[in-house]
Amino acid sequence: MKHLAFLFALPLFAQQDLSVAWVRSSVEYAALSQQAYRAASQSLEAALAEPRWTAALEQKTGFEELPPAVILDLDETVLDNSEHQASLAAQRIAFDNDKWNAWVSQAKATAVPGAIEFLKFAQMRGVALVYVTNRACKANDENDPTVRNLRRLGAPWVPARLLCREGSSSDKGARRAAVAETYRVLMLIGDDFQDFVSVPSEQNSIAGRRAILGPNQQFFGERWFLLPNPMYGSWERVLQR
Ligand SMILES: [Mg+2]
Repeated sequence: MKHLAFLFALPLFAQQDLSVAWVRSSVEYAALSQQAYRAASQSLEAALAEPRWTAALEQKTGFEELPPAVILDLDETVLDNSEHQASLAAQRIAFDNDKWNAWVSQAKATAVPGAIEFLKFAQMRGVALVYVTNRACKANDENDPTVRNLRRLGAPWVPARLLCREGSSSDKGARRAAVAETYRVLMLIGDDFQDFVSVPSEQNSIAGRRAILGPNQQFFGERWFLLPNPMYGSWERVLQR
């Protein structure tokens, strides 16, 4: 595609360096993250007050009386893994599963700016916090590194509300649907388009993703809140097609 030609003008590692540096150094990154969480906090009262309000496309009918919940992704939404991304960039590696697992096992991710404050505020307002992550974690194991990392950061957490990756699929639709059985989903918070909506593989192209965004754009800033992440995401797979 002609408009993507710029991608090939800059070596891949230089792009990786720039995106990691932006996350780790810029006030713009910190301010955007805070902005997303502040907007979410400000929407919370309206969401609680309106029983027909739901953020999950998987939530259909009969949810008005269910207790309220917010669904959050973990990586680059609550947990900041940019130290690991910086290490990969220094080694000129894009992604490595063993290195990722080694990083996760250290449980030393820091918090995305604004995340912990939002989580505590929502908890104080009686909202259940449900983490839907594609980490291969064990929610019931208190020694699981993701559990330890959340606890270390002071993130509200209970085993039943940490939904780890099941099997090989990274799609979160089934887990959102399961949460919607028990809770009224007030908000979705994530750094990747697929934290909000499922994208069928045949539609996972630039045009296909834009077509899905169209009718759903209205939710962003009101019930869907997007954190910035230029380092990686499902958007990359589209470029490789
Ligand atoms: Mg993420």
